[in-house]
Amino acid sequence: MSEMYRNFIGGDWIAGAETARNINPSDLSDVIGEYARADKAQADTAIAAARAAFPAWSMSSVQDRANLLDAVGNTILARKDELGRLLSREEGKTLPEGIGEVVRAGQIFKFFGGEALRLAGEKIQSIRPGVEVEITREPLGVVGIITPWNFPIAIPAWKIAPALCYGNCVVFKPAELVPGSAWALSEIIIKAGIPAGVFNLVMGRGSVVGDAIINDRRVDAISFTGSVATGRAIAAKAIARMAKLQLEMGGKNPLVVLDDADLAVAVNCAVNGAFFSTGQRCTASSRLIVGANIHDRFVAALSERLGSLKVDDALIPGTDIGPVVDETQLKQNLDYIGIGQREGATLAYGGETLKRAKQGHYLAPALLTGATNAMRSSREEIFGPVASVIKVKDYDEALAVANDTDFGLSAGIVTTSLKHASHFKRQSQAGMIMVNLPTAGVDYHVPFGGRKGSSYGPREQGRYAREFFTVVKTAYTLP
Ligand code: NAD
Repeated sequence: MSEMYRNFIGGDWIAGAETARNINPSDLSDVIGEYARADKAQADTAIAAARAAFPAWSMSSVQDRANLLDAVGNTILARKDELGRLLSREEGKTLPEGIGEVVRAGQIFKFFGGEALRLAGEKIQSIRPGVEVEITREPLGVVGIITPWNFPIAIPAWKIAPALCYGNCVVFKPAELVPGSAWALSEIIIKAGIPAGVFNLVMGRGSVVGDAIINDRRVDAISFTGSVATGRAIAAKAIARMAKLQLEMGGKNPLVVLDDADLAVAVNCAVNGAFFSTGQRCTASSRLIVGANIHDRFVAALSERLGSLKVDDALIPGTDIGPVVDETQLKQNLDYIGIGQREGATLAYGGETLKRAKQGHYLAPALLTGATNAMRSSREEIFGPVASVIKVKDYDEALAVANDTDFGLSAGIVTTSLKHASHFKRQSQAGMIMVNLPTAGVDYHVPFGGRKGSSYGPREQGRYAREFFTVVKTAYTLP
């Protein structure tokens, strides 16, 4: 019998209306636990509890909030190995990647512990003599937080920490596939002494719990990360009732490799950005846009490097690439590899499922060459260890191809030319630009987010998080 993990609603641990098994994608016989799934009535109770807790929490001492967030961060960091193991076991990224993500979550909580003490307003002169104008920031109210499976602790952390920091109450619905890290994070927040109702964990289905959060007028704001299709569907409903909205969605991120690039840097950026974390990152470099003169050397060196990578159980030392998260995602990856080939691309490396000691969703990293930017495999997010090489004649074509996409999350360039690097930073239509660095892998204390179809609403993370998690008030006083 595996352990049963319940939801946390209104200050109590509550059994689910149903339960679901959390399965290890590296070893399908390994059941991590049974996790509660709430129904609509339980989601309603959580929202009501958050509403009831808001007046007191919104007026709570910033020192108390700072202490709580800092304590949560310290606990996460102290337990990084155990939490990283849980994360890698349920999501399939390698253990060093899992521990790294946990450390990031801890750092985020500590950062927002500090931010609680730094929220400043402005006082400026009125155009009317004797009148004072004050601009302050206040909490929004109840925030619904809906997260995807690919960063099971960091994404919840970068939404929950600022929400609580600025005095909001939280109803948190993690992804169905990875409830373990979300539950562990929630238990840490609860044990740190969060008042009843301020933080609620409501694991369950998107179509049930997520939908209840989106449609409830008592939820003032929604912060969502996930796929474009879900994000668009959520947006239509949330905007219809005028909820404040923050959406982080997919990407089709370009990595440009110019002819003057350092080949070793280019290969490192491509391997890391496209294939680490099994390519399951919204910032993954799925389009490798490569100058004609360096193209053949780049493809040869990249293929050789891919051949040296170990695809295996996420928890085994030495694994470079863990399994794909589940069967549905594996099928999607294989489908897109087939689509790319039928569109005329060549499968230059990998792309086949692999058998390992334990039964899991293993896929050899796939490199498609001879791709064009018009192919579906170059335009739609695949979300797996699959990258397409698009050959271009010069920098101008590379920039045009990089920007010719419905997405705009992250974009990278590998070059030794300061002129091209500077031009790319200014002309790229993405929210985050990387020069001689992988498109994935970002700092926790600076803004994160994209443009075009990738993002909607204010940026996440760093000080910029307050744009979403607070509302501005302008007060006029005639003393
Ligand atoms: P998803 O859209 O399937 O699910 C995301 C969340 O939404 C889950 O918690 C799910 O239960 C919930 N949900 C589903 N249907 C819902 C509904 N009708 N109403 C309310 N909630 C609903 O995404 P996923 O497969 O979990 O994650 C992968 C996607 O996330 C990829 O597209 C990836 O690019 C994106 N992502 C984006 C970022 C970013 O910051 N831009 C970061 C990580 C992942």
